[in-house]
Amino acid sequence: MRTAVRVQGVVQGVGFRPFVYSLATSLGLGGLVGNDIDGVFAEVEGPPEAVSSFLLRLEKEAPPLARIERVTTAALGPTGSAAFAMAPSAAGGERRALVSADSATCADCLRELADPDDRRFGYPFINCTNCGPRFTIVRDVPYDRPLTTMSSFRMCHQCAAEYASPADRRFHAQPVCCPACGPRLRLLDATGAPLAGQQAGADPIAAAATLLRAGQVLAVKGIGGYHLAADAANEDAAAALRQRKHREDKPFAV
Ligand SMILES: [Zn+2]
Ligand SMILES: [Zn+2]
Repeated sequence: MRTAVRVQGVVQGVGFRPFVYSLATSLGLGGLVGNDIDGVFAEVEGPPEAVSSFLLRLEKEAPPLARIERVTTAALGPTGSAAFAMAPSAAGGERRALVSADSATCADCLRELADPDDRRFGYPFINCTNCGPRFTIVRDVPYDRPLTTMSSFRMCHQCAAEYASPADRRFHAQPVCCPACGPRLRLLDATGAPLAGQQAGADPIAAAATLLRAGQVLAVKGIGGYHLAADAANEDAAAALRQRKHREDKPFAV
């Protein structure tokens, strides 16, 4: 039998397609899965018991960041194909897909971040299918790299291989990147010009720390937006930040 499945809720940017892909292939089902402006659509084909097992586990074992609001199914005519594919995203129609919020760096990524042998050692923009920026990089749905602020960063061959490999934990992670192909840290002055004294190869984080210790106010730009940084124990720095933000008394969120 072949069944069309539609999943609505927070199902984009949470690793839902890779999850459907591995669930279907582990059950020996053929079919496809894709994103559209309404959420995730899939078709699964195989023996009835495998299809019901798929539908049961689809909701029970969904990725941690997913929030399923509704699953609907419809019977289709079997095509006889046993292959399972990631379908291109479909556009058009009324936009109803919900995009996940940004998610803090997961334990696996933190482990890589701290591993001197990992190619993302110390890389501040590390992320994977289960963590990283989502809502703040999305320009439109369906949630796919060309419709995010990461579209201008072309994946290197290693990142592209991870993105394309169903067994990889970055399979279809839209913001996947590394020091070779992703955003890099730069230290700029208030006019946007590279800060004098920042030699090629100099560590912008060490230089930023020196500036903070000297009472400067910094804006730290991540993939998704800015954080303001100042030494809270330095009265002059805190006063400068308050003045620039026109916020004389109200506490800042830390
Ligand atoms: Zn992660
Ligand atoms: Zn890369």
